[in-house]
Amino acid sequence: MHYADTAIVFMLTVSATATIGLFRQSGQEIVQASPPAQTVYLRKVGIQTQHCSPVFHRAGRNPGIVTGYGLALAAQAIRSAFAMTEPQVASSDATNIETRIERQGDNYVINGRKWWISGAGDPRCAVYITMGKTDPNAPRHVQQSMVIIPADAPGLKVVRPLNVFGYDDAPHGHMELSFENVTVPVGNILLGEGRGFEIAQGRLGPGRIHHCMRLIGLAERALELMCRRAVARVAFGKPLAAQTVTKERIAEARCKIDMARLLTLKAAWMMDMAGNKFAQSEIAMIKVVAPSMACEVIDWAIQLYGGAGMCDDFPLAYSYTAARTLRFADGPDEVHRNAIAKMELGKYMR
Ligand SMILES: Cc1cc2nc3c(=O)[nH]c(=O)nc-3n(C[C@H](O)[C@H](O)[C@H](O)COP(=O)(O)OP(=O)(O)OC[C@H]3O[C@@H](n4cnc5c(N)ncnc54)[C@H](O)[C@@H]3O)c2cc1C
Repeated sequence: MHYADTAIVFMLTVSATATIGLFRQSGQEIVQASPPAQTVYLRKVGIQTQHCSPVFHRAGRNPGIVTGYGLALAAQAIRSAFAMTEPQVASSDATNIETRIERQGDNYVINGRKWWISGAGDPRCAVYITMGKTDPNAPRHVQQSMVIIPADAPGLKVVRPLNVFGYDDAPHGHMELSFENVTVPVGNILLGEGRGFEIAQGRLGPGRIHHCMRLIGLAERALELMCRRAVARVAFGKPLAAQTVTKERIAEARCKIDMARLLTLKAAWMMDMAGNKFAQSEIAMIKVVAPSMACEVIDWAIQLYGGAGMCDDFPLAYSYTAARTLRFADGPDEVHRNAIAKMELGKYMR
């Protein structure tokens, strides 16, 4: 599951699962329900799930979006993608985004280029949540807006797929896209003009913790593979497990995974109890800790496997690419460290 899923599908499916005591409808049942029941359901999920509320609440207020996209996503009939990153600007700073969203009468006209848009390669991807600037002269954090763009909109082109260390991640894929005078009705804007940055902030917290949970799973699996190999493989007359360096790494891996797991749990608990904003520091901390921890543990496992660790006979090489990507996707380590330091220093500044 990537950006797109954490933006919308996450809201509709994972969230519904998390609140299963309240919502037992399947996607199909939701689609077949009466329009008022659909709206109640969608609003409730949005309210129950702070993770996604900004996009979701807007969708809940806009019948067109609810029936057109929200329900189709709930029924898993379509997929979505989240289009923010641009090749020509440092996109870890979202205020740099240059794509233009210009109002012309009852429409918005979108021009720009995006890349690394995960999920855009999937034939089921029917909609892009696209970030651009509606007012480049507004204050820095209210220049941006998000619009929903149908994948088959005229002027929208998939330029090329991008590989991650040689993996194409098909059918999901990561695409470069170009938007040339792509036109959508004004109702396709999310939350309203100038709210794009706010929406990005709102979705990134839940997206990040989700990445961290998956990374802990990846590291756990790498450790299991490492242990299995260590007891079974013999070099220089004894199992690899008997080497001190192997025991050191296995012990370190166990410590680091559990430390990351507990920090992730703490962040999740704070998000649930007090909200995403309050958990900002913990979210930033796990986003730094989990990818680096996973990279280190998976790298140790690869080392223990020798040549076998580098090919696709085992999941280690592919796991490493996923973990490595997350040291900058959804915010580079450096940016999160800056944020943590700022919050920490803030306690001592008046
Ligand atoms: C597999 C994959 C999937 C992705 N999926 C999506 C997607 O679905 N949608 C989407 O919109 N984007 C997606 N991305 C893009 C990803 O979010 C960006 O690559 C990321 O935000 C970094 O932006 P950038 O590449 O422009 O790097 P830049 O902003 O150019 O940053 C490059 C480097 O500069 C350094 N740096 C930046 N700021 C600071 C700072 N303040 N202090 C110190 N150093 C700094 C960091 O080392 C950083 O890694 C994906 C990327 C990958 C690889």
